[in-house]
Amino acid sequence: MNQIKTAMVGTPCQILAATKINKYSEITGGSPIDIKVGLFCMENFSYTYLEKFLNQNNIEMYEIKEFRIDKGKFLVNLINGNEFSIPIAETNVFTRKNCQICTDYTSDLSDISVGSVGSPDGYSTVIVRTEKGQKIINELKENKLIKCEELSEKGLKLLKSIANKKIRTNQKNIESRERVARQVLSQRHVSEKTLHNQSKNCQFSNLEADVISVGGCVLCGACEYVCKSNIIQINDRKPQAYGECEEDCHGCYYACPRTYVSTDLLPEDIDSKPFGEYLDILAVKSNSINGQDGGVVSGILMYLLDKEIVDEVFLVGQDENNPWKPKSFVSNKVWDVIAAAGTKYSTVPIGFKALTEKTEKSKEKL
Ligand SMILES: Cc1cc2nc3c(=O)[nH]c(=O)nc-3n(C[C@H](O)[C@H](O)[C@H](O)COP(=O)(O)OP(=O)(O)OC[C@H]3O[C@@H](n4cnc5c(N)ncnc54)[C@H](O)[C@@H]3O)c2cc1C
Ligand code: SF4
Ligand code: SF4
Ligand code: SF4
Repeated sequence: MNQIKTAMVGTPCQILAATKINKYSEITGGSPIDIKVGLFCMENFSYTYLEKFLNQNNIEMYEIKEFRIDKGKFLVNLINGNEFSIPIAETNVFTRKNCQICTDYTSDLSDISVGSVGSPDGYSTVIVRTEKGQKIINELKENKLIKCEELSEKGLKLLKSIANKKIRTNQKNIESRERVARQVLSQRHVSEKTLHNQSKNCQFSNLEADVISVGGCVLCGACEYVCKSNIIQINDRKPQAYGECEEDCHGCYYACPRTYVSTDLLPEDIDSKPFGEYLDILAVKSNSINGQDGGVVSGILMYLLDKEIVDEVFLVGQDENNPWKPKSFVSNKVWDVIAAAGTKYSTVPIGFKALTEKTEKSKEKL
């Protein structure tokens, strides 16, 4: 049993991994993640392709301060103050190819999902999905820590059309990929019974064959986190096993968001619901912090720590030596939440890395 409670912020694939880790905790060992704040996510970027693209445009990675997406443009802010920008439609040359088979735009399995699409500048679009999420939003509102407004009809329509576009485009990509390669397992909405039948004998070699070698890995780090034998490492942007698997261990296969997902987690008709299952959709602004959009994610995390609803939060800040590079860490300090506000368009493995490192440190102390 985990005593510590953690709130995580993550992209839909990371939220799915956390959900699977906790659902199959007897097999994976579980996690301290108690509250899941999901981000909207159209795609993420490949470090290798992005570096190549920027080099072709005479930009080296060490010259970069940050990446941003604003008003249909992908912006590269340089340390020397200059800015390079391209229309978002042209980023497909460095989009991660495994994002092209992902149909979750709004983090269907989170307690609260947050994005920018649909809301005015300075506001975040918030989808409340669970009673737990509803309670947090209600408390923030009662304490005047956030300002909530109805999402405009125009905003809702835009959000729906973008979420549907991701679903339709990527369903087609899945079909094309399956014509020439293996099945995309995470899209098979199987029963729990089938999931267990298909997964119960699987170990790292199966994960490698079914996910990693067919370009399905999203580099979330969940396999590395759950491995009790500590043999998985993510090197060269690829999970690898250095050693023998423990007999009867199947943790990594169950935790991976790119293996089977059962209808217990996502109903069979999930792709006909652009926002997934939800209780409420709102336009929200934090009254205490400026963030990427409405500062809602940081506002939620600050409140959870302040009221001791969780012990620690999972953050993505910037690497000290490479400001553009996202760095994940776990903290119990409100000022760390403030410093980590803002989106880092990830080009390196993030996700469960921070939890893995923390677990390693606590093992060393024993
Ligand atoms: C890869 C990616 C793609 C996205 N694509 C879209 C999109 O297509 N449409 C859309 O509407 N919104 C998208 N978002 C979400 C959007 O950029 C904002 O994060 C969201 O609106 C929350 O804004 P905020 O002001 O409430 O957050 P803030 O208060 O600024 O807090 C942001 C929080 O996100 C965390 N964070 C930053 N980078 C990452 C990361 N790479 N992974 C996990 N956590 C991170 C930080 O730790 C911080 O706590 C995307 C986010 C990411 C990371
Ligand atoms: S697979 Fe790609 S598009 Fe899907 S949630 Fe993860 S980062 Fe976003
Ligand atoms: S021991 Fe093997 S099967 Fe178990 S989690 Fe580690 S790599 Fe996976
Ligand atoms: S193989 Fe590991 S890092 Fe890749 S998606 Fe699966 S769990 Fe995440």
